[in-house]
Amino acid sequence: MNLKFFFRNINQQIFTSTFKFSCEGGKVNPPKYVLWDSTRRCNLNCEHCGAKDETYQSELSTKDLKKFIDDIARYRVEFFMATGGEPFLRNDLFEVFAHAKERKLHTGVATNGFFINEQNVSDVDRFFESIMISIDGTREVHNKIRRNPQAFDKAMQALSLLKKKSRAYLTASTTITKSNVGDLQLLAKKIAELKPDQWRITSIMPIGNAAVDKALALDQKDFIFVLDFIKKNRKQFNIQVGENLGYLGRYEREIKDGPFFCPVGYLTCCLGVEGNIRGCPEQPDNDFFHEGNILKDTFENIWSKGFRKYREQDLIKNETCNVCKDKKMCAGGCWVMKLNSLNCSKMIYKL
Ligand code: SF4
Ligand code: SF4
Repeated sequence: MNLKFFFRNINQQIFTSTFKFSCEGGKVNPPKYVLWDSTRRCNLNCEHCGAKDETYQSELSTKDLKKFIDDIARYRVEFFMATGGEPFLRNDLFEVFAHAKERKLHTGVATNGFFINEQNVSDVDRFFESIMISIDGTREVHNKIRRNPQAFDKAMQALSLLKKKSRAYLTASTTITKSNVGDLQLLAKKIAELKPDQWRITSIMPIGNAAVDKALALDQKDFIFVLDFIKKNRKQFNIQVGENLGYLGRYEREIKDGPFFCPVGYLTCCLGVEGNIRGCPEQPDNDFFHEGNILKDTFENIWSKGFRKYREQDLIKNETCNVCKDKKMCAGGCWVMKLNSLNCSKMIYKL
């Protein structure tokens, strides 16, 4: 029996019941994590990019962001982390995170690593406690996916520089598609050399470029290969499975430390480029996912009054999930995968 899984499952159930009970009593606890979708600009042009659909006339100003940070710190949010696009393209990134550190928030950034170098590594170390860098394959494969001949070397240099000169918790992140599934074993050798604290592996999501290019999607054989790879290697590499894969049937206890749980509306939410609050950075920045805008309302109000569809588990209010024996473990899967009816990995891949 996977005891870690067993106890996490119990803790999770207690957490969600207590959260809901407290909501019913009129007190909504703050989220633990706020992710900032900092910009949709990027120096690369990945074939599976999820950010490509959205362009913006404006981005939140430094002043707006500092005020927002003051608000979430007062509300007792614990973590503030930047993603994108490429966060290092924002000229005020360090200024914003210096402010977050002053307000005692824990900080993190997800990046392609291109702009981390000897000159700024001490600032990166000062302002970020966790750093996630995307590595989608060995040199040729990664560069082809990222459509840039320098992308692999830059990402590897950033990881090894951070390993030597920063105290941050380092994650290498790999999105598996048809383009790199055959490269996974070779990539594992590179990851073994780099020794990040964690290797995050997930599969492509049906957003941005990937929603258009269906040839990138994994078939059943590929998907099972990836799950078996994780099962075999997870201890050696501290592999964490991307939560967008949802409930994984017979693999659930074998490759995870805890059951599937979409943290949106309970533990996390995302601040969008123009100030709209939605569930997570992978969700499209559109009306369906918007819960409010921080330029028009307070964060506390948006968090407390919004996020109904997550807290009321709307994803299982359909004929299939409603009668599913696994609905307590799954809750209908991932909201983003649901956009293309890919939320039930168990059925699609016969797990
Ligand atoms: S049918 Fe619904 S609740 Fe059951 S495993 Fe699939 S997505 Fe989850
Ligand atoms: S909606 Fe999907 S990708 Fe977003 S937090 Fe939930 S499970 Fe993860």
